[in-house]
Amino acid sequence: MRVAVIGAGVIGLSTALALRQRGCDVGVFESGAAGRGSSWAGAGILFPLLPWHYDAVVNDWCLRGIRLQAGWQQGLHEWSGIDPEYRVTGLRVIGAYGSGPAAWLRRHVQTFERDGADLLIPEVAQVRNPRLVDALISSCRAAGVALHGALGSVAPLVQADAATGVTWAAGHWQSDAVVMCAGAWSGQIEGVGPVPVFPVRGQMLALRAPELPPSMVYDDGRYLVPRRDGVVLLGSTLEQVGFDAGTTASAAAELLGWAQRIHPALGPDRVIRHWAGLRPGSRLNHPLVGRHATLAGLWLNTGHFRYGLTMAPACAEAIAESICQTAGAGR
Ligand SMILES: Cc1cc2nc3c(=O)[nH]c(=O)nc-3n(C[C@H](O)[C@H](O)[C@H](O)COP(=O)(O)OP(=O)(O)OC[C@H]3O[C@@H](n4cnc5c(N)ncnc54)[C@H](O)[C@@H]3O)c2cc1C
Repeated sequence: MRVAVIGAGVIGLSTALALRQRGCDVGVFESGAAGRGSSWAGAGILFPLLPWHYDAVVNDWCLRGIRLQAGWQQGLHEWSGIDPEYRVTGLRVIGAYGSGPAAWLRRHVQTFERDGADLLIPEVAQVRNPRLVDALISSCRAAGVALHGALGSVAPLVQADAATGVTWAAGHWQSDAVVMCAGAWSGQIEGVGPVPVFPVRGQMLALRAPELPPSMVYDDGRYLVPRRDGVVLLGSTLEQVGFDAGTTASAAAELLGWAQRIHPALGPDRVIRHWAGLRPGSRLNHPLVGRHATLAGLWLNTGHFRYGLTMAPACAEAIAESICQTAGAGR
């Protein structure tokens, strides 16, 4: 079975790999450079932030993803030779008041501790985004996925209410199924009707601070993620500014102000990089994973909003399984 995947972020690449592992002939079609969208820009926390505020749809996808992460990351490391730096460093949630957080954690995680108004969740893991996307790209190549980049906008080829491949300015590719994994741009693709996904900008800072303890910290909408080599990420903003992936001095000042309240040493002199990414926003953070409502042969795996890295292996498995079962049923 031939499958075309539109978009080479974590979602497109993990989908392609899962399809290839089921014996499909897979091509990934990317408008720009593979793995440089939201997947590159994010923080790599593999856990929903304040899961007690989300509904079961979000938490189920996240928990399914979390259960697969350790084995998936190890496989990517082995296939690619690139270490995605998957590490269980724990998460401290500052000021988790009331009984709701503890009640949720008691049901869904193995251990947690209360420390005054804070909660410590030792089993929360992180991954280093640029390394994860590089490991995915190499693993896809090693598995025989054909990666095509710098194509400009790619869209499904639609004939008689069915997607029969993909098309772009300079070419097309016929396939039995098409999976749309175009992240924040999924609502912009022509010929498929409305797809309710929209860009939500998140700005991040990287600082050099080798003396910080290894656990991640969340407080009041902001977080801090210490990496293995002494780099610390601060994030993030949630901004509805369309497709503007620029950075602002005010966001940097606000993130640094927050960080200095947690660790006074994290001053502006420590900053080594400031960037922004566009999350694939969706209503209630519900990802769209499954068949397109009207076009046969078109599948969606998009709209993962704040948790695409966390959900990726679960959504990839689910969509690859559905596509292959449908093909089997049609034989
Ligand atoms: C600041 C920030 C912090 C985050 N932190 C976390 C976190 O800690 N944990 C977590 O789980 N998630 C986090 N996320 C969310 C996570 O990064 C996203 O949910 C995830 O990366 C979405 O992956 P994707 O592959 O759908 O999108 P992307 O990585 O954006 O990939 C989409 C790809 O599609 C391509 N494309 C677009 N249109 C077309 C077209 N027409 N034709 C061909 N190609 C096209 C793009 O060029 C891009 O390469 C964060 C995101 C941001 C921005």
